[in-house]
Amino acid sequence: MNNSIPAITFDNIEKNFGSLKVLKGISGEINRGEVVAIIGSSGCGKSTLLRCFNRLETINAGHLTVNGIEIHTKKFSNRQLRQLRTQVGMVFQQFNLFPHLSVLENLTLAPRKVLGKTPKESAQLAGLYLEKVGLFDKASAYPEQLSGGQKQRVAIARSLCMNPQIILFDEPTSALDPELVGEVLQVMQQLAAEGMTMVVVTHEMQFAREAAHRVIFMDQGIVAEQGPAFQVISHPQSTRLRTFLSRLN
Ligand code: ADP
Ligand code: MG
Repeated sequence: MNNSIPAITFDNIEKNFGSLKVLKGISGEINRGEVVAIIGSSGCGKSTLLRCFNRLETINAGHLTVNGIEIHTKKFSNRQLRQLRTQVGMVFQQFNLFPHLSVLENLTLAPRKVLGKTPKESAQLAGLYLEKVGLFDKASAYPEQLSGGQKQRVAIARSLCMNPQIILFDEPTSALDPELVGEVLQVMQQLAAEGMTMVVVTHEMQFAREAAHRVIFMDQGIVAEQGPAFQVISHPQSTRLRTFLSRLN
């Protein structure tokens, strides 16, 4: 892996759903080891942008590279797509755990099916990452037996089992009761400190200020303001961003 190539670049990308223009020529980059928070009002296109990064959505115009490879071209093969999905992990607001599988089975499924690991190897990996998120003792529990915060920590551990280079988080704490937000942010903060490349759509400004290197403020499908986290959150330049931040408090 060439460390001088950005993890993700996006150049003038446009995304429409029918006649609705959601991304309107948006550009930027995510550098290796960088933690970038994406903020902005509901409906401004944050999830859509994130989903373009691992090709859960296609784009209508522009260029998007992951690890230096353009991913939205006809040449991009199914084999490359499978590889992309292992390199770029995703953690969703609603956890998306398999309800009929135990925690351990949730974690070992993709390493076995996609990476071809043996049951023993995948169980070892799962144990390692469950330990990391503080849930080693929940290996045989089922998702419904866990709190929201525990479910999200399992989802993060599941993502880590694929040894991703980048993890995308789409409002990972928005579905949680307030008292459970902290335990998830703590795990994310630890990953950030270890150098994981992370793109985090979030409304948690304290997390963004403390854990993110950079903040991108999106407004109606464009980057309206961006810069170092402290600067964007504590010294917003535009009226739009000031208004957005004041509504959060
Ligand atoms: P955010 O994550 O910032 O709240 P989204 O990216 O989810 O915003 O959505 C941006 C806009 O695109 C919204 O108006 C939403 O309704 C619309 N949208 C998102 N996904 C789809 C889809 N699959 N089909 C049609 N419209 C969509
Ligand atoms: Mg969203």
